[in-house]
Amino acid sequence: MKTGTTDIVLTTTDELLNWARLNSLWPVTFGLACCAIEMMGAYASSYDLDRFGVLPRATPRQSDVIIISGTVTFKMADRIKRLYDQMPQPRYVISMGNCSNCGGPYWEHGYHVVKGVDRIIPVDIYIQGCPPRPEALIGGILKLQEKIRAENSPAFTKLQQLLQKHQSSKVTV
Ligand code: SF4
Repeated sequence: MKTGTTDIVLTTTDELLNWARLNSLWPVTFGLACCAIEMMGAYASSYDLDRFGVLPRATPRQSDVIIISGTVTFKMADRIKRLYDQMPQPRYVISMGNCSNCGGPYWEHGYHVVKGVDRIIPVDIYIQGCPPRPEALIGGILKLQEKIRAENSPAFTKLQQLLQKHQSSKVTV
């Protein structure tokens, strides 16, 4: 909040931490099928996801988002679960495209396809389409940012818990 000419900004710790988190979403560098081409298009210069602070990282250990972009086969399912498990908390999942949402064109006869990635890992945002265009992915990222903005910051909650634990473990004489 700006007041008069002094330019004082007031906010809560939660809002400050959430603002930092939602403007620096780092997805795992990971793609599965044709939807991944649209995801790469969104990263490229025409759409330039960098301007939203979205920078792909080459390791799940430094990522807070995984974009499931493509057909989830049973062969890949345990790899996806492993990548997700390696990501630090808080972590988010965007399901990009009909294949990832529900099996897509393989939903009925695709014996090799998982009928929705949410059967393996929890999904925060679903993006429909076959394939969704880069604009749709950007829309999904904006939705995820809205969700994070409304969250109680996990870092702040953890800090409060640690402080409470420290207080209760103090010995008074
Ligand atoms: S939803 Fe369509 S474009 Fe995306 S991976 Fe499936 S078949 Fe390919």
